Amino acid sequence: MKITKLTTYRLPPRWMFLKMETDDGVVGWGEPTVEGRTRTVEMAVHELGEYLIGQDPARINDLWQVMYRSSFYRGGPVLMSAIAGIDQALWDIKGKVLKAPVWQLLGGLVRDKIKAYSWIGGDRPAEVIAGIENLRTIGFDTFKLNGCGELEIIDTTRKVDTAVSVVAQIRETFGYQIEFGLDFHGRVSAPMAKVLIHELEPYRPLFIEEPVLAEQAEYYPRLAAQTHIPIAAGERMFSRFEFKRVLENGGVSILQPDLSHAGGITECYKIAAMAEAYDIALAPHCPLGPIALAACLHIDFVSRNAIFQEQSMGIHYNQGAELLDFVRNKNDFNMAGGHFYPLTKPGLGIEIDEEQVIFRSQNVADWRNPLWRHADGSVAEW
Ligand SMILES: [Mg+2]
Repeated sequence: MKITKLTTYRLPPRWMFLKMETDDGVVGWGEPTVEGRTRTVEMAVHELGEYLIGQDPARINDLWQVMYRSSFYRGGPVLMSAIAGIDQALWDIKGKVLKAPVWQLLGGLVRDKIKAYSWIGGDRPAEVIAGIENLRTIGFDTFKLNGCGELEIIDTTRKVDTAVSVVAQIRETFGYQIEFGLDFHGRVSAPMAKVLIHELEPYRPLFIEEPVLAEQAEYYPRLAAQTHIPIAAGERMFSRFEFKRVLENGGVSILQPDLSHAGGITECYKIAAMAEAYDIALAPHCPLGPIALAACLHIDFVSRNAIFQEQSMGIHYNQGAELLDFVRNKNDFNMAGGHFYPLTKPGLGIEIDEEQVIFRSQNVADWRNPLWRHADGSVAEW
């Protein structure tokens, strides 16, 4: 069996799907993308494709090493996201050939279901509270929201109080009937993270995500030393070689590799096992599309330390397409009761609506994250 063709489709809202074809007709799908730099990743996929055409798709471990090590310069979001989507497609093909879901090929289930959590958009407390109420009606009890807007390196007490007051009102409204994580989104400087975490402590968030940027990961153990709130990070780390340093330095309680950014299923399975060895939880990052989500779920169902799964239904980024628009077997992703169940179809377990994919990939606008500026005109982290 040989790989014959790679086709990429850039899609709304900010996704890219990869179709991998073989000479005996089995097709695999992957989702190689980096939000806001999809065209760059697309080029990387096709460049890596030169190593894949004519090769046996069954040799995933070897193909992964070829894609990673064939270049003297390696790693980073673009190359590792390209590898990730290709790796997903290879696993999809393997499962379809062997007629088994990917979790079965990785040794079988360690759990029967996994909690899903949901993003809550909006900045005003009333909006956030209404969003939570709405999702509680279908069974969600775990949420994530942004912890604050843009912050200067040293910012005012007023801005800190505004951020804290949203969180206080959520806790006051729902008590401990719900749990919520707060994503600082790398917006917060190390000095302000210290202040903000201290002020948020009484409201007992489930975790604080990216309290500072991955570039400042040396602050994770220092921030963890001052707080009991678990610190989560990992969506901007791209291989086990990066995660190794974070695990060794300590401070992170929840690891969040992204199955479409950190080398795919092959790499994230290893990252999950590394985290388990350090008694650290796993919560794969996934504000992306359905193929990325399927890949996450296969890792969740074989990793004892997986605790909950992010998903993008209704997320504020989903302008122009929703999570399951390109999926035929929508019921398999049913989140009633706030949980996902194992995908049982062969491979990734997702049936792609290819007609929709082709149709909606025509003339897709590029998604870019907003460029924020502080009041003085300098660039702010988004
Ligand atoms: Mg995040």
